[in-house]
Amino acid sequence: MENDVVLTMRGICKSFPGVRALHNVDFTLRKGEIHALMGENGAGKSTLIKVLTGVYTKDEGHIQLDGAAGDVSIRSPQDAQDAGISTVYQEITLCPNLTVAENMFIGRDPNVIVPWKKMEKRAGEILDSLGIPARPKQQLGSCSLAVQQMVAIARAVDMECKVLILDEPTSSLDEKEVEMLFSLMRDLKARGVGIIFVTHFLEQVYAVCDRITVLRNGELVGEYEIANLPQVELVAKMMGKELESLSFIKSDPVADMAESGVVYEAHDLSSAACPNAFDFHIARGEVNGFTGLLGSGRSESVRAIFGADRVTGGRVLRDGKPVKITRPIDAMKQGIAYLPEDRKDDGIIADLSVRENIILALQVLRGFWKPISQSEAEQFAQEYIAALDIKTASADTPVRSLSGGNQQKVIVARWLLTHPEYLILDEPTRGIDVGTKTEIQKLVLRLASEGMSITFISSEIEEMLRTCSRLIVMRDRHIVGELRGEALTQDQVMRTIAGGVD
Ligand code: ADP
Ligand code: MG
Repeated sequence: MENDVVLTMRGICKSFPGVRALHNVDFTLRKGEIHALMGENGAGKSTLIKVLTGVYTKDEGHIQLDGAAGDVSIRSPQDAQDAGISTVYQEITLCPNLTVAENMFIGRDPNVIVPWKKMEKRAGEILDSLGIPARPKQQLGSCSLAVQQMVAIARAVDMECKVLILDEPTSSLDEKEVEMLFSLMRDLKARGVGIIFVTHFLEQVYAVCDRITVLRNGELVGEYEIANLPQVELVAKMMGKELESLSFIKSDPVADMAESGVVYEAHDLSSAACPNAFDFHIARGEVNGFTGLLGSGRSESVRAIFGADRVTGGRVLRDGKPVKITRPIDAMKQGIAYLPEDRKDDGIIADLSVRENIILALQVLRGFWKPISQSEAEQFAQEYIAALDIKTASADTPVRSLSGGNQQKVIVARWLLTHPEYLILDEPTRGIDVGTKTEIQKLVLRLASEGMSITFISSEIEEMLRTCSRLIVMRDRHIVGELRGEALTQDQVMRTIAGGVD
């Protein structure tokens, strides 16, 4: 077996300021295998690949190629290329206005000028042998995205690559194109190339891969033979959960209001960031949630409802009447508030005071030509500092000096001050202390009992199960199921994410 190995990475560590992206990660690739590298967003997949391809320098660890005893030194992408490691990124880095043949040969070795005729002939042979539907003289830009990607692979392969890395190559391909790419991958595998395949499409992994390495939070979870790792267990490993027996002890049941008094509904809604149209509804006093792996489209869905990304289709109704929501301000006027996922980028204004941060959404809603008076602002600030128990020296304190949990409460206060009928909370408890987490969960349930409709997104399934009466499950940017009542268990959530296959 050992001499089947083409690549060994051992004890790889890589940190960025404040982030440990990889910690002690091992990875082994055999000749002629397709090996999936899996993990949620931020797990460290791209970093591992960039270490391997010389884009980043590793802090620690060893990389060996082809069973050689010594470490290979990969300090630049060129080193990686010379060592036979090729990468095809999702974004195609070729030149669309050159021909297919030119793209396959140009710039590979500046010292060698390949005669044009010879280049074309060779390109034709490679395209034929790999079954790529492109002609050497054709302009690359006139080929479909899938074919362009295959040309990029052909270029990599002809450079005698031993290791081919495909980082999310299928994201923008349709079914037929994916099948074409897979048959090319299988072909290369038969020729002994070791392929590392990064994708977030679970089915694709099972369709084409031999083994899987799972990363989580920069650490190795494990390496598995595909046949020994059912899809639902893969999901559990990616999420860092154990599959429990079906006797899951559920917390207090949350009242299921879904059938009574729908307030907001969306039909065939889609946005630039959320291309797959979906339906949605929420009742008065209901707490529902979107769940799925990171990157499955949870945030994009709620952002579409709020008009945060360009709306491309569908309609939204409030109390059964159509309303037009194309921008956040439209949504706010319809009683919708949205607390975004990334409070640093989208939410908090660090240099402004607690008071100014709290009144911001209300000010936007009223319009800037009707400024909220100082005394009114102070009154609002005091009211919400007390109501949410925000720990701050005063309302004047810059928000930046508050702890993460208290900053989060400031944003919650900001939106509550607009007295929304419908509150969307995207990861409101991420990165905050346990005490504040519980307070926010309680607040959600209290607001709901007072009649507010709430959509809650959290990466922690337990938290969702405690707060939501209905979970909408997403996979690969599609809604794949809805769970309520007895079905609201962690196992059931993971099974639904995995696609009901065991
Ligand atoms: P994945 O590809 O699995 O989604 P990444 O390897 O991109 O994960 O990221 C792993 C972690 O490292 C994340 O927390 C990410 O924010 C961080 N990270 C990645 N690249 C950089 C960088 N250049 N600077 C700082 N942090 C980074
Ligand atoms: Mg990545």
